[in-house]
Amino acid sequence: MIRPRIKVLALGGTIATRPDASGAMQMGLGADDLVAAVPALAALAEIEAETVSKVGSHSLGFDQIHVLAARIAELDADGVIVTQGTDTLEEAAFLLDLLVDRDIPVIVTAAMRNPALTSPDGPGNLLAAVRVACDPWIRAHAKALGVMAVMLDEIYAAADVVKVHPTRMNAFVAPQTGPLAALVEDRVVPLSLPVRDAIVLARARLGDASRGKAQPVALLWLGLDEPGFVIEAMSEHRDHLGYRGAVLAAMGGGHVPERMAPLVTRLAALLPTVVSPRAGAGGPMLRQTYGGPSSEIALRKAGLIWGGRLQPLKARVLLETCLRAGLGRAVIAEVFDAFG
Ligand code: ASP
Repeated sequence: MIRPRIKVLALGGTIATRPDASGAMQMGLGADDLVAAVPALAALAEIEAETVSKVGSHSLGFDQIHVLAARIAELDADGVIVTQGTDTLEEAAFLLDLLVDRDIPVIVTAAMRNPALTSPDGPGNLLAAVRVACDPWIRAHAKALGVMAVMLDEIYAAADVVKVHPTRMNAFVAPQTGPLAALVEDRVVPLSLPVRDAIVLARARLGDASRGKAQPVALLWLGLDEPGFVIEAMSEHRDHLGYRGAVLAAMGGGHVPERMAPLVTRLAALLPTVVSPRAGAGGPMLRQTYGGPSSEIALRKAGLIWGGRLQPLKARVLLETCLRAGLGRAVIAEVFDAFG
C-alpha cells in the first residue's frame, strides 16, 4: 500500500511543551518529538516533520501565519498537519483558510492537556489529524472542505470552529454548523460539507494579501453601560494609536448603547469598522428589524460594516487581511456582506 506523504509543521503550543526544573511547562518539543511520540503514525503515512517555531499561540502573529501559508503553498505533500497552541487556533486556522489554496487536506490540531499530565490529548489529536488527512473522502473533498481543525476526534471547518473553554479537553465546537465529520475507530464518518461561497469571494478579492504590511485592528467588546471612552480616543488620536480598523463586538442582532451611536459613527467615518455579534455562537445579525439611533438600521446607514455570521475574533482576522490586501471600504463591505 502506498502511504500518503504527510507533512507535519509544528509551531509550538501546549502540545509541544515539556516541564522545566521547577515543573512549569515550557515550549521545547519540536515536530520530530511530536511524531516520535505516536509510533502508530508510521503505518498510516510517510511523515515528514518540520519545526517552524516553538512559541505559544498566544504569541503568534499574523505575519507568521502568512509565512506559514506561503510554506504550505509550496509543499510537495499529500496532506499538511499544523500543530500549534489552542489559544488562537480558531483565528490561525481561519487565516490559513483565507490564504491557502490547495487541493490536499490542510489540518490544524493542538492539545489542551500538556504532555506531563495523565491522558494528554496531543498524541491522540495528532494521530486523528493524520488519519483524517489520509482518509479517501477527506482527500477527495479537500478543496470543498478548506482548512480543517481536528480536535477530540471531530473535524471542523476553520471558519466555524471556536474555542469555548479555557482548560477543558472538549474546548472546541462549531456552534453554528457542528462538525464536518467524526472519527470513529479508524473511520472518518462524513456529516456535511461547508458552505464556502463567502470564503471563495473573500479569497478572490484578497488576491495576494501576504504581500501587504500588518494592519492593526482593534477588537472592542461592548458590555452593559459601556461609556465608549476607548472609541472616542480611537477617533481623536487615530494616528497616535495606530489602529487601521476596528471590530465592535456588539449587542444582540447588532446594537450598541444609544449614547455610543455618535461615537461609533464618527469612528466608522475614519476607519473601516465592523460590527460583529458578541453573543456566543456568532451571527448572522439583523439588518432591518429595529429602529432607533443605535440599532442595526441606523448603524448600517451610518457606514458601519456588517460582520455577517463571523464571530468577533474571526471578523478581526478577516478585516486585518482585507486591510493588508489594500482593499477599500466598499470592497471590504462586500466581502463581509457575503458572510450573511
Ligand atoms: N498557551 C497555549 C497555547 O496556545 C495553550 C494551548 O496550547 O492549549 O500555545
